[in-house]
Amino acid sequence: MYEQQKRLIVEFGLKMLRSNHVSGSSGNISVKIDENLIAITPSGIAYDKLNFDQVPVIDMNGKIIEGNLKPSIEYQLHTQIYRNFSDVNAVIHTHSIYATVLSVLRIPLPAITETVLMFSKQIPVSEYANAGTNELARNVVRCMKDSRAVLIANHGLVCAAKSLDEAFNMCEAVERSAQVYVSAMSTNMPIYVIDEKYAEEAMTFLKKNYGQATDFISF
Ligand SMILES: [Zn+2]
Repeated sequence: MYEQQKRLIVEFGLKMLRSNHVSGSSGNISVKIDENLIAITPSGIAYDKLNFDQVPVIDMNGKIIEGNLKPSIEYQLHTQIYRNFSDVNAVIHTHSIYATVLSVLRIPLPAITETVLMFSKQIPVSEYANAGTNELARNVVRCMKDSRAVLIANHGLVCAAKSLDEAFNMCEAVERSAQVYVSAMSTNMPIYVIDEKYAEEAMTFLKKNYGQATDFISF
């Protein structure tokens, strides 16, 4: 059952790997099936070795409903996000380089370009917690009230959206902006962020006008 969602997990796992957002089996992806079920990447299986019929289906308590493989150790991160934000249908967690650099510096990504403003006033960094813990999930959920993209302290990035396409595009956009920001910081020159007044206007404008009506990532 749930072949369509399982195939999406494989498809986006490969996309994430080929775009250099992760290496090997790191990072994880999930997609909502219904109010109580998600398909999620299994723990420790390389994306290019994963067949769709191996993808576990779990409920919102982490119980395996289908499949023989253990789900990602970060399953609580995924289930907590779905439980707290009913508009979210897909979650992608990456270890992309520049987002991780900011997470190590524990510096939020400010509104250096309007790309950031498509998601939030800034991309926050969650408080530190070890991988695979409920505490990490809780810390991310706290930040996600303001931004559907969150830098996980000393770890990486997580993006939640209406679809895997949207979540993947967010991961790409945040990583690119993080690269610009880290590069700008490395010059030791002053960095200018978009003024508050313009930022508010841009957010309102983008929310109303960007994309094809249903495309816009909701807050
Ligand atoms: Zn991770």
